[in-house]
Amino acid sequence: MSEKIWLSSPHMGGNELKYINEAFEENWVAPLGPNVNGFEEDLEKFLGRNTKVAVLSAGTAALHLALIECGVQHGDEVICQSMTFSASANPIAYCGADPVFIDSEPETWNMCPKALKEAIEDRIQKGKKPKAIIVVHLYGMPAKMEQIVAIAEEYQIPIIEDAAEALGSTYKGQACGTFGRFGVLSFNGNKIITTSGGGALVCHTQEDKDKTVFLSTQARDNAPHYQHSHIGFNYRMSNIVAGIGRGQMEVLNNRVEARRAMHDFYVETFKNINGVTVFSEPESDFYSNHWLSAIIVDPELTGKDREGLRMAFLEDNIESRPLWKPMHLQPVFANAPYYGGNISEKLFDNGLCLPSGSNLSDEDRERILKVINSYFGS
Ligand SMILES: *Cc1c(COP(=O)(O)O)cnc(C)c1O
Repeated sequence: MSEKIWLSSPHMGGNELKYINEAFEENWVAPLGPNVNGFEEDLEKFLGRNTKVAVLSAGTAALHLALIECGVQHGDEVICQSMTFSASANPIAYCGADPVFIDSEPETWNMCPKALKEAIEDRIQKGKKPKAIIVVHLYGMPAKMEQIVAIAEEYQIPIIEDAAEALGSTYKGQACGTFGRFGVLSFNGNKIITTSGGGALVCHTQEDKDKTVFLSTQARDNAPHYQHSHIGFNYRMSNIVAGIGRGQMEVLNNRVEARRAMHDFYVETFKNINGVTVFSEPESDFYSNHWLSAIIVDPELTGKDREGLRMAFLEDNIESRPLWKPMHLQPVFANAPYYGGNISEKLFDNGLCLPSGSNLSDEDRERILKVINSYFGS
């Protein structure tokens, strides 16, 4: 059996161990220390716009704290993009709140502004104004932020931007993760850069960052003994893990370039295969890190389907995966309200994510190309 080609695997830069060794030498083996501060500074510099970043144990933890800081409580409603990974929606349930799911639009596959507006007006009419809007930049593709921000401002509802997949992506030159009241990043093992596991909450004021750090370190009041007036969490990032992050930040721009080159490779590969569309930016305002390259296979035009291609890849030990199954189709969220049509459902039926790692070799690409050409008979 040939070696496995992964969808997206960790890709170390080289200096990660240097930062970890420093932590050991100085005994900062704790959820605080120079790597935590250094990683936060690196992220703030990268994102720009005077952001204040708090690094945490996971992107999911960042979403949870963002909801709490937006005041989301038991029985509240929170709007969430349907087509996403479950981690975008689960923290709504952690708060005892209820998700309201929104369909995608076909260009960026992200939250449809029209359905969003319709949902807000309908929920208000039903007597409950949504407390927050969770918008996702799927596979690194920026959502239509200008329209979404305008709607959120019109109704005065805070945006939580799930940029877990979109570090290095921009919309109109502005970094994804910096548009909302809060932005969420993830450094899980399969993301564009990784700390093995980890995340961050992007804030815009020192006050919000301080509150995030406070809540993520068990909400200890200022007192010599342990004194608490809030429910706290153990969500802070470890200084060891943050050392990996500092090493990864040194190569982030390279990683974005390499992922974008994988996307170009697929554009070239499918150029002459009628009925297969490679997921690409609709226009130049959108700049995707192309964390994952994805295609839509039209069964009528190709006489083939995405599942057949997935099996053909599997036979050669190459990983590919259907797109995220929309949350409104998940059994666990079966009772949640949903607004929109069947765009996300159709994307799920015909879409496939392809090997997209920044560490794929020329030989890996040859193997991928061979499977594609033999499956489509081109
Ligand atoms: C990975 C991911 C998350 C969760 O991040 P973790 O760090 O794994 O908790 C949230 N949302 C999206 C869209 C993701 O892809």
